[in-house]
Amino acid sequence: MAVLSEVTIARDLVRCKSVTPKDDGAIGVVHKYLKKLGFKCEIMEFQKKGTVKIKNLYAKIGNSKPNFCFAGHTDVVPAGDIKSWSVNPFGGAIKNNKIIGRGISDMKGAIACFIAACSKYLNTHGTPYGSISLLITGDEETVAINGTKPVIEKLNRRGEKIDFCLVGEPTNLNTLGEMIKIGRRGSMTGSLTVYGIQGHVAYPKESINPTTTLVKILNTIKSLKLDNGNKDFQPSNLEVVKISIDNTADNVIPAEAKATFNIRFNNKHTSNSLKKKLNKIFSTVCKNNKTRYAIKYYVSGDAFITNANSTVDMVKNVIKKHTKRNPVLSTSGGTSDARFIRKVAPCMEFGLTTKTIHQVDENAKITDLKKLKDIYTEILENYF
Ligand SMILES: [Zn+2]
Repeated sequence: MAVLSEVTIARDLVRCKSVTPKDDGAIGVVHKYLKKLGFKCEIMEFQKKGTVKIKNLYAKIGNSKPNFCFAGHTDVVPAGDIKSWSVNPFGGAIKNNKIIGRGISDMKGAIACFIAACSKYLNTHGTPYGSISLLITGDEETVAINGTKPVIEKLNRRGEKIDFCLVGEPTNLNTLGEMIKIGRRGSMTGSLTVYGIQGHVAYPKESINPTTTLVKILNTIKSLKLDNGNKDFQPSNLEVVKISIDNTADNVIPAEAKATFNIRFNNKHTSNSLKKKLNKIFSTVCKNNKTRYAIKYYVSGDAFITNANSTVDMVKNVIKKHTKRNPVLSTSGGTSDARFIRKVAPCMEFGLTTKTIHQVDENAKITDLKKLKDIYTEILENYF
């Protein structure tokens, strides 16, 4: 069997215009290559009410334990202003030894390396004593409710076990080998509405201005010192991201005032402990100002960390060998699908660089793709 090329696969994937939540054949490309390699492939489609149907793929080779899983997403963010790109963002162009295209670093390049690494491994060693699986979703960049989360739940229901998972999200700031992610902060958004009594600004005694309460609340929650961080995590932080008072007249005290905030938090808190803390502030300040409030929370995920173990060490050493860098184990950055997978398996993330992701002319060096394929291949060799 010929060993598959990560460059060919990556370009095939970039040519699918899989701008989230569209698939445009991207899952099919992965399916086609893995089938060729002898993987048992299962397409899993999900469609929560009010969303579009999403295609996901779970593919596996081998039947015994342990099951090593590669995870990633084929959907990409929009290209933005196409005229600012130097090439067609969905053409798979190569320029100056780089593949340029939307999603090449985040994270079609890593998926191509998963597949090429599997083909190289299988070509040399045959089917492993254990199983290699790939969990590829088409729903990560937006709401992520028809993707990895329901796939994991379905696998869990039928007793399919994953023993270790490597997510191929871009983790390095500038150079391959700088950083491995072994956890993520939690993220929670709160939408707060404060209710007062509408009235004429000239007669404030007859009304209650909810804006006064809202400003006090926002000041209080922004001044909260949540923690100082710890050895694994940076300090938790709250940011107010939106304030809105729907009022078209200058002489009216509004009936309600709204604000939205987001908290990125470490493992010293849970979303529930934070809700408790915040709700207490809301009710105290509202009571003191004779206003009422309503709050809606959206939790993207709680904070988590994969504790140091032999696989984490092994992966770190493989990366060091191929990149001549000593990768930092980090929990920084935004959320990823690791937040769903970590509920069933220890998880770490290592992929390309974040330097050009979501930007015009997103690109990946061909030498980085080759290195990443070699790293993934050696991880498989050491794991089994
Ligand atoms: Zn991504």
